[in-house]
Amino acid sequence: MAGAAGDAGAAGDVSEERPRRALLNRRLDGLGTTIFAEMSALALRTGAINLGQGFPDTDGPESVREAAVRALRDGHGNQYPPGMGVPELRTAVTDHQKRFYGLDFDPDTEVLVTAGATEAIAAAMLALLEPGDEVIAFEPFYDSYAACVAMAGAVRVPLTLRAPDFRPDLDRLRSLLTPRTRLLLLNSPHNPTGTVLTRDELTAIAELAVERDLLVVTDEVYEHLAFDGEHVPLVSLPGMRERTVSISSAGKTFSFTGWKVGWVTGSPELVAAVRTTKQFLTYVASGPFQYAVAEALALPDTYYEDIREDLRTKRDLLAAGLADAGFTVYAPQGTYFITTDVAPFGEKDALAFCRALPERAGVVAVPNSVFYDHPDAGRTQVRFAFCKKQEVLAEAADRLRKAFARP
Ligand SMILES: *Cc1c(COP(=O)(O)O)cnc(C)c1O
Repeated sequence: MAGAAGDAGAAGDVSEERPRRALLNRRLDGLGTTIFAEMSALALRTGAINLGQGFPDTDGPESVREAAVRALRDGHGNQYPPGMGVPELRTAVTDHQKRFYGLDFDPDTEVLVTAGATEAIAAAMLALLEPGDEVIAFEPFYDSYAACVAMAGAVRVPLTLRAPDFRPDLDRLRSLLTPRTRLLLLNSPHNPTGTVLTRDELTAIAELAVERDLLVVTDEVYEHLAFDGEHVPLVSLPGMRERTVSISSAGKTFSFTGWKVGWVTGSPELVAAVRTTKQFLTYVASGPFQYAVAEALALPDTYYEDIREDLRTKRDLLAAGLADAGFTVYAPQGTYFITTDVAPFGEKDALAFCRALPERAGVVAVPNSVFYDHPDAGRTQVRFAFCKKQEVLAEAADRLRKAFARP
């Protein structure tokens, strides 16, 4: 570490001329505030229906809420829980991986509980990347990916998913690989496009990862919200166990996005690496909620079927309303979101469209264009969340029809 005297001397030499440094470090240039903050503030100010940010307007199961209350009252998790997460939750995660995917993990060494998937993603990027490493991720990106890759000093390399079907171009993926490529950051079901990777696509990606000895981090927070197709964890494919960090979370599956309980599964070496950074981010989080999520994960299969069917119905309701209003609708295979195109209205810019939408129609949406490095690819794409009550979706569809549909 540089001595205090040395620091003082250096400052003395240049104090008059030195230009004022920007406060935010340069790695985070261009990552000021998330679009969700701007659009949610707009929703508040205008009273518009907020189909911007993806959170349900109905809480998850009453029994799970009660489990959290019981944990609080009984003093479970009110003090720092174990760094890896409470044993009940780690075991519930391994039981879940076995029940749904036939995967065997050791709850003591292969599961790490995190403050939501968000912390898991950050901890994984900070643990696994060296400055200058290249990370390939699908664009449009989930917004925290660009920030986490930047905080690790690494370089994001986008693989663009293009309308109308948003499939990954696997030849293009191969062509993006360089000697600096370290990691693939995958998200399926994919926010915002709703793409669910097929077994064939995943197999091709896995083969590439093995051939080039890449690490893979998979964001599977919508694992139970695949309406068409089937969610296949990449880690279940040959050669992937020792190179895959799988991330999921309770927020979307159980409609408790405020609880921030997520988890990482992977080999003991990978989990230990992620744990090293995670312990200095939050150390631990969400004590009592960990017990409640352990109970949630053990809910019967019917719970998981019902939430998927409920959201499928809502997807269909909003998709029909948007199509009626004249939007180009790209029906998603999964997630909470429908991507649309506003070019049929003569619009040229999704951000300007979304800023005007509350006044024009009383609805808030989010421009996908901000999730692309190649802005042309998504310039007129707008995302609507459908994880809302049916009557709210119906009202939003009605407003959009009145504002846009030609008689
Ligand atoms: C919501 C979301 C997350 C964040 O999950 P938390 O558990 O709330 O931190 C991560 N990735 C994607 C793709 C998401 O949509």
